[in-house]
Amino acid sequence: MKAGVIAVQGDVAEHAAAVRNAAAARDEPAEVVEVRDAGIVPDCDVLLVPGGESTTISRLIRREGIDAEIREHVARGKPVLATCAGLIVCSRDAKDDRVDALGLVDVSVDRNAFGRQKDSFEANVSITGLDDPFHAVFIRAPLVDEVGAGVEVLATVDGRPVAVRNGPVVATAFHPELTDDARVHDLAFFPEREVVA
Ligand code: GLN
Repeated sequence: MKAGVIAVQGDVAEHAAAVRNAAAARDEPAEVVEVRDAGIVPDCDVLLVPGGESTTISRLIRREGIDAEIREHVARGKPVLATCAGLIVCSRDAKDDRVDALGLVDVSVDRNAFGRQKDSFEANVSITGLDDPFHAVFIRAPLVDEVGAGVEVLATVDGRPVAVRNGPVVATAFHPELTDDARVHDLAFFPEREVVA
């Protein structure tokens, strides 16, 4: 499996480690590449769009022409895991002119809405497809405030969606790469198979 981590900005190394862990748990060889330029995504089997600053990530992927390649990747049905700022970038509407939302996950988001209430928090969340709760770390997380018909909500906190699946894209408001638990990466990249602990 060749995994591309969109690496224009954000927590790239943590995602690289998590995807290696998820693949190792399945005895899958994994090559992880950092994507800063166009021309790399077309060779990737799976993609990660990390947390960070969505306005910056949006501007840079557009400037480099990586945005169209991510859209094409999803159009081919290939998996993506988008976390926090990644969710904002992949959403249908980020309600912010500085974010050119890719429209890959049919949700609208309110950037930093959780953050205005509590800057960062952690919660054990139940996620569809995982047997045990996942310890989720939220950092200035986006609030998902509208969910389209084709979107499966995988987890909620206080009734708000915090993990969703839209076709080949899994997106989380939290940061699954910041714990040692690679089950969300597994869920995103090995969707047809039994989850391994
Ligand atoms: N609030 C940030 C944004 O709007 C996202 C924060 C994060 O990725 N931890 O881009």
